[in-house]
Amino acid sequence: MKNILVTGGTGFIGSNLCKKLLQQGHKVICLDNNYTGSLNNIKELKKHPNFRFVFHDIINPINIRTHIDQIYNLACPASPTAYKGAHSILTTKTCVIGIINILEFAIKNNATVLQASTSEIYGDPLEHPQKETYWGNVNPIGDRACYDEGKRCAETIMFDYHRHKNAKIKIARIFNAYGPNMNKNDGRVVSNFIVQALTNQNIVIYGSGKQTRSFCYIDDLVRGLIKLMNSAKSITGPINIGNPEELTIKALSEKIVSLTNTKSKVIHKQSLRDKDDPNRRKPDITNAKVLLKWEPTTSLPEGLKNTIEYFKLII
Ligand code: UDP
Repeated sequence: MKNILVTGGTGFIGSNLCKKLLQQGHKVICLDNNYTGSLNNIKELKKHPNFRFVFHDIINPINIRTHIDQIYNLACPASPTAYKGAHSILTTKTCVIGIINILEFAIKNNATVLQASTSEIYGDPLEHPQKETYWGNVNPIGDRACYDEGKRCAETIMFDYHRHKNAKIKIARIFNAYGPNMNKNDGRVVSNFIVQALTNQNIVIYGSGKQTRSFCYIDDLVRGLIKLMNSAKSITGPINIGNPEELTIKALSEKIVSLTNTKSKVIHKQSLRDKDDPNRRKPDITNAKVLLKWEPTTSLPEGLKNTIEYFKLII
């Protein structure tokens, strides 16, 4: 049994991770400022004797007296709708100041830190599929830069703490996760399309719908994160964690229409996203397969069905 801190623990990925870690018999401290996370996501977990919630923002130093063995840093708004605009400066602070506070706390505890990085590191990629060796194509002054550059800088800080202060680090680059506990208003494509389909509203594709993404079901992602955290000390990453099955946003809308039997129409709207919306995205997961013996096992229809059932209960 380990003492594990999950920052961003009331969010979509964090709450699913907390649940799994409790099932595995660990003690879990869930820390969040609930900016995009929700206490609803941990309602059941709060009843568990090994679970504790701490209200805190990681842009302030962390002072938890319990000894911590492992830290998963999932604290950051992750949907473009949440991180762009008014909250962009806070997003960069969360990434950069947040990871410094976490690493300082980790060193005091001799704890391993797993940083939730992102496929956004690659920007609008010129290499396809994306390998971890690709340095990316990011607009440093665009609308998404607060998140992309924030996450890139967090990787830099992780490696500098590793090289100069012996911090034990792991970096996962997460590609478009989906599943239960997604916030219905967070603006991402899977939640938007499902909510629109279930409420018979138009399903709105931004642009042509020819842009692609590769969607990874939450249970697969959580399994991958836990494998990376518990891998040999020499495995720092960055490692891509995602599902290499690539599809267009139009194809995704068709799948959701057929799985929900909705009467909703699929329509297209221009300019709802900035010009930096990546055109293609697909992870190369060779490293995850070889080093972690991990690969996703949930098919898109299966994952979407579970997600649709979840949204039916909450909307
Ligand atoms: N998208 C869309 N309709 C929506 C939300 C998103 O067509 O209601 C598109 C969006 O323009 C992007 C893709 O779906 O090309 C994925 O968007 P999401 O916000 O889910 O993730 P990210 O852009 O961060 O990969």
